[in-house]
Amino acid sequence: MHRFYVTPEQAAGDRIMLCPREAHHALHVLRVRTGERVQLLDGRGQVMQAEVVRAGRREVELHVGGRRHFPPPERRLALVVGLTKGAAFEEILQRATELGVTALQPVWTRRVVVRLEAEAIASKLEKWRWIAVDALKQCGGAWLPEVGGPEPLESWLERSRGWDWQVYGTLDGTRGTLRQRLLAYRSAHGGRLPHAVAAYVGPEGDFTAEERAALDRAGVEGVSLGPRILRSVTAALYMAVVFQYEGLGDDMGT
Ligand code: SAH
Repeated sequence: MHRFYVTPEQAAGDRIMLCPREAHHALHVLRVRTGERVQLLDGRGQVMQAEVVRAGRREVELHVGGRRHFPPPERRLALVVGLTKGAAFEEILQRATELGVTALQPVWTRRVVVRLEAEAIASKLEKWRWIAVDALKQCGGAWLPEVGGPEPLESWLERSRGWDWQVYGTLDGTRGTLRQRLLAYRSAHGGRLPHAVAAYVGPEGDFTAEERAALDRAGVEGVSLGPRILRSVTAALYMAVVFQYEGLGDDMGT
């Protein structure tokens, strides 16, 4: 069944017009027809069953037949990643959405090579939002990840609160593996998984020694993801997969 995105405002009524972008996709790529049943997602917990009541040249009108509301994910995983070049960041965003990551926060670090002017940030955020929407439609999740605007690592570390556990991927070789550190966390917390985790991954040029020291001071634990040097994309998805596998993702946006 085809899935389409509607904003929570659009989703309020039982008669819904798709926005121009979704209507174009529905009409000219998927060729939906009157009478066809589709699913609508608002990315904020609502999943609706709907029927196409009008498929015009540019417009698609739907009638909502049933709704389910999934509560916000109880467990949270934020990936905090040094802003990688366009395609790599977009890949992290797509895959992280599929894997139920609840937030993706790009951070500026010394060795980030991407430059974004202030004016370019709004359009990047809009582009990222649609990438996450398309990934959500593909996987049928109920909640979109929050995607923050790029922010310096230091200010993120000062401002971000509420994590039960924070880890960063490091190649320094003296730290335990993610598996060992997670087992240690669990044995220190009566076997429980952390509810809210922030996992940090450096940019392609890695974190600097000062940045690693700042992470350590902020209580973020360095972890190894094995002896090989992974690309940032791989390291970020490794973290997302591990937490999903361990059960942190069981209710991460359904
Ligand atoms: N250019 C660097 C590698 C950077 S890898 C070099 O050649 O040494 C990018 C990021 O992925 C790192 O900052 C780290 O957070 C993460 N990462 C990659 N491989 C890792 C590993 N084996 N263990 C832990 N983190 C890793």
